[in-house]
Amino acid sequence: MPDLEGIGCDGRVADREYGGAVADRSDVVIVGGGIVGVCSAYFLAEQGARVTLLERGEICSGCSEGNAGWIFPSHSTPLPAPGAMRKALGWLFDPASPFYIKLRLNLDLVRWLWIFARSCTESRARRTFELNRELSLQSRTLYETLAALSGLEFDWTKEGLLLVCRTRAGLSEVEEELRLLKALGGEGRRLDGDETRELVPQLSAEIQGGIHYPADAHIQPASFVRGIAAQCKRRGVRILSGVEAIAFETSGSRISRVVATKGDFKCDHVVLAGGAWSAGLVAPLGLRIPVESAKGYSVTFERPDDFGNIPMLLAEAKVGVSPCQGTLRFAGTLELAGLDLSINERRLRAILDAGRLFLPGLPELVRLETWRGLRPCTPDDLPIIGRPHAVTNLVLATGHGMSGISQGPITGKLVAELVSGDRPAVDLAPFSPDRFR
Ligand SMILES: Cc1cc2nc3c(=O)[nH]c(=O)nc-3n(C[C@H](O)[C@H](O)[C@H](O)COP(=O)(O)OP(=O)(O)OC[C@H]3O[C@@H](n4cnc5c(N)ncnc54)[C@H](O)[C@@H]3O)c2cc1C
Repeated sequence: MPDLEGIGCDGRVADREYGGAVADRSDVVIVGGGIVGVCSAYFLAEQGARVTLLERGEICSGCSEGNAGWIFPSHSTPLPAPGAMRKALGWLFDPASPFYIKLRLNLDLVRWLWIFARSCTESRARRTFELNRELSLQSRTLYETLAALSGLEFDWTKEGLLLVCRTRAGLSEVEEELRLLKALGGEGRRLDGDETRELVPQLSAEIQGGIHYPADAHIQPASFVRGIAAQCKRRGVRILSGVEAIAFETSGSRISRVVATKGDFKCDHVVLAGGAWSAGLVAPLGLRIPVESAKGYSVTFERPDDFGNIPMLLAEAKVGVSPCQGTLRFAGTLELAGLDLSINERRLRAILDAGRLFLPGLPELVRLETWRGLRPCTPDDLPIIGRPHAVTNLVLATGHGMSGISQGPITGKLVAELVSGDRPAVDLAPFSPDRFR
């Protein structure tokens, strides 16, 4: 268990740590305490920056908590791809479908859908695959290093990822992904039905086959985020939970102070890692970033003793299954329904039905938790990492969609490089916040 004293609390503990007065000046203020915010804080602190992180709830109370925890450089097929619009339209009126758009008269949503539609070409999908894969590969290396830190436990498991298909059509879709991956130098093994069931005996006799990607990995996401937050604290990062950033005061093209619910914070640089809430936060600065929230659900059960360690995607249902320590988590659906955290029972049931259909060999499971989170999704399925032209001391780090866990550590490192003025480890042009202008 990481040392969380001073994290899941309000500003008062920070007062005590800072001799009774919340210091109002830092080098960097980070807004958001999900994986992107804490990884940014960690790499900034490693560079010696004085960092304050503001989180309006608890650390890891947003989308970074109950997700599937995959690091998946291999399975990087983007959402906008040829045929995606047709598929999405077909799912629109199915209450149990894995993808749903709540149609509403909202100009931001219309703009988002327009850019999404334009991104559905063969060449763009291929480029997105490549770029996301590169970020996830670099993250994977960073996870390896972080897993060696003393006192940081996050169930780092390198068993790969298994895609499981019930139909021939599903199998040809994932075979196409494997072909593309191999063309990029990646690795994957095509399995027939029996070979797939050998890896996971609880799978149905109807399973046609699958793909095993050995380079992928998985973690317990909440343990990682809270553990990194504890590591940040050890490195002098001031973490203030229960503190909400409400506005940015500017002077010329710079943010001069972050106005928050428990005081104002002056700093040289601001990092915005507000997940699905990011677009609303920067809109008053005149920045229009197309980040829509896409709700997903997970249900976590006690793990049966004989269930192995390989996470899998039930391909046609788009449901992820993640074994982690004593738990087994089913995760899925993508609902573009705005900043709405209500739970749709039919979609939740659809996730569990898919579990029963693909894994009839599972016994009756003991349910531990039902969770939902809002993914911060961009229409081109690439994250936003960079400085907007109009606000010179702001770094945006958001829009990671389905890949925030996969890409969290490398994003944090890139943020630190941007703030310090070092040459970023990755060419950031494709991730620029200005690419949508
Ligand atoms: C069902 C599901 C399964 C998923 N599985 C995977 C997976 O296997 N692998 C993967 O890579 N990704 C996965 N994801 C996606 C991943 O969870 C997200 O991409 C990631 O958590 C986003 O991290 P974040 O730090 O940007 O946002 P968040 O974790 O949401 O953090 C943002 C934080 O900012 C805070 N905040 C917002 N506004 C303010 C403010 N004004 N002041 C202060 N704080 C503020 C919020 O409270 C929140 O804590 C999954 C998502 C879902 C829903």
